[in-house]
Amino acid sequence: MRKWGKEIAIGFALVFISFLAFIGVNLAPFAIVAVLLVALFLFMNMRGGITVGASNGRNNPSKKPTFLTFDQIGGQDRAKQELIEALDFLVRYEEIRKFGIRPLKGILLTGPPGTGKTLMAKAAAHYTNSVFVAASGSEFVEMYVGVGAGRIRDLFKQARSQALKEKRENAIIFIDEIDVIGGKREGGQQREYDQTLNQLLTEMDGIYSANTPRILLIAATNRKEMLDSALLRPGRFDRHIQVDLPDKKGRKHILELHADNKPLHHEVNLDKVAEESFGFSGAQLESVMNEAAIYAMREDKEFVEQRHLSLAIDKVMLGEKTDREATYEEKRRVAVHELGHAVVAEIVRPNSVSQVALSPRGQALGFVRHQPQQDQYLYTKDFLEKQIMIALGGAAAEEIFYGGRSTGSTNDFEQALNIVQTMMKSGLTNLGIVDVQMVTKEELMKENAAILEELMDKTKRQLEEHIDVFHHSLDLLMNEEILSGEQFRRIFCEHKQLPA
Ligand code: ATP
Repeated sequence: MRKWGKEIAIGFALVFISFLAFIGVNLAPFAIVAVLLVALFLFMNMRGGITVGASNGRNNPSKKPTFLTFDQIGGQDRAKQELIEALDFLVRYEEIRKFGIRPLKGILLTGPPGTGKTLMAKAAAHYTNSVFVAASGSEFVEMYVGVGAGRIRDLFKQARSQALKEKRENAIIFIDEIDVIGGKREGGQQREYDQTLNQLLTEMDGIYSANTPRILLIAATNRKEMLDSALLRPGRFDRHIQVDLPDKKGRKHILELHADNKPLHHEVNLDKVAEESFGFSGAQLESVMNEAAIYAMREDKEFVEQRHLSLAIDKVMLGEKTDREATYEEKRRVAVHELGHAVVAEIVRPNSVSQVALSPRGQALGFVRHQPQQDQYLYTKDFLEKQIMIALGGAAAEEIFYGGRSTGSTNDFEQALNIVQTMMKSGLTNLGIVDVQMVTKEELMKENAAILEELMDKTKRQLEEHIDVFHHSLDLLMNEEILSGEQFRRIFCEHKQLPA
């Protein structure tokens, strides 16, 4: 009946209006009032739309309840534990009050994109039986001074009113990308940003544990160093929880969670997938599972097989295969470049090459797949130097074969430069233990050039010593377009050039 209430009312109104017109009543004043009412209604709706729709409907739990629990988040055991401990401030508020402990107002989740920060905030809302209101920092960015601040006020107001409406004692407000509005205030032209941040600080200062609904702010960023110190001081976002990329165990757990609704073949080994997806975030792992299922469906298979998962890893890592047709000369240069990486990798880290391929994927025209790495958190100088040599291998090979480089080395150089920076920061260069801010640009450039030149020379020497292996592999790769790790190592053996 409720469902049809609106239609019945409209029907009655139409019949009533027709009757009035029939008996000769002047309808003009009624029409004007009706137009005004409709305009008012639309205006109110639009205003509501700004706050409710501010995060694409994410912040309207009354319409779309979030039932996400911590069990549905893979890995992140330490982060989950820390968050649960912090949430006890909401759950055990009576004890907190008895001890006179000041309420926890803000929790900052920091970490790379796609590691599950939003999931954590949603699970926190479920754990504390709170309403969940979400927004993203970029939604508060406006040209006009004061609009962002108004939206912050609306967000808090909405959280309170929604909690009251749903008769809940707690509300969690989640702000993703807090760095957009919470960046360091440096004066100057940023008045709008400053007002928005000031409003956020004011709202946070107005949170008291004695008042229900109790509000907890959870914010996420992957650039904590950018945040204004006023946000991070005690009494504001004073709990910081690092949400890192998952380790192998975490990756397996995430894969298992996302495999739950997919028909996996009984021979699928998720341990292996977790091993091969080193460095992937939770979002990338979800994508691997999804892409693998798409491959299986396209092939009309009943189950997702290991092969589909391997293809999916390549796709997520390098992009979709493209049908770009390269010229013979271009193809040969790509083969030389990729073999440069592969030969150096096999010399400095025996058995590390898993595949060399010439098939174009994403932006790359070819690629070298390395054997899965162990999760590693500490790197020695020797390890980092070898990593730089592998990155420089492509350009070095092009120089040997063609006497010059191409634009194909841009990403490799970026990678090499990043590693050199890490070495400098860690005191692993001739600059000694320094703060890079204290050293002049010239000194940094000199040291950077010295490291890269020395390693480039070393890389070229290694490649020249293995030139027979190189020629042999190049012919094979040009013919077959794919060289497996085993084939590649056999060539090394035939030329008796396998490193000890
Ligand atoms: P961003 O910083 O880009 O906002 P985020 O850290 O908030 O990213 P989420 O939005 O929480 O990441 O995760 C995106 C998607 O990735 C989730 O919807 C989920 O499918 C998957 N995912 C990420 N981390 C995990 C995890 N730990 N367990 C299960 N799924 C995960």
